[in-house]
Amino acid sequence: MKDCLFCKISSGDIPSEKVFENDDVIGFKDIAPMAKEHYLFIAKKHSKNINEIDEKSLVQVYSAIKEFTQKNNLEQNGFRVVTNVNEHGGQTVFHTHFHVLGGEQLKRFGA
Ligand SMILES: [Zn+2]
Repeated sequence: MKDCLFCKISSGDIPSEKVFENDDVIGFKDIAPMAKEHYLFIAKKHSKNINEIDEKSLVQVYSAIKEFTQKNNLEQNGFRVVTNVNEHGGQTVFHTHFHVLGGEQLKRFGA
């Protein structure tokens, strides 16, 4: 999608520090990390948020996160997956993305 920051990262028009890529998904380091390890995972296909992403893309992104976190043993120190929806939910880039945060003691958040 034109003028979408994450579509431009996906296409390589804007550089990123990629940590994962397959035909449908990329994972890259957040430029403003909020944890020792902070990655963003997106489907290459544009959608606005988790309520608008198609089921196939959703499974592809979550499968990629699972593959990445298993391969890099993020489970050892714990991690969380977060997605924000709309401005009031803290979303700042309107291309569905999932934060993967880990690598240190995370502040307790809910149950
Ligand atoms: Zn996009």
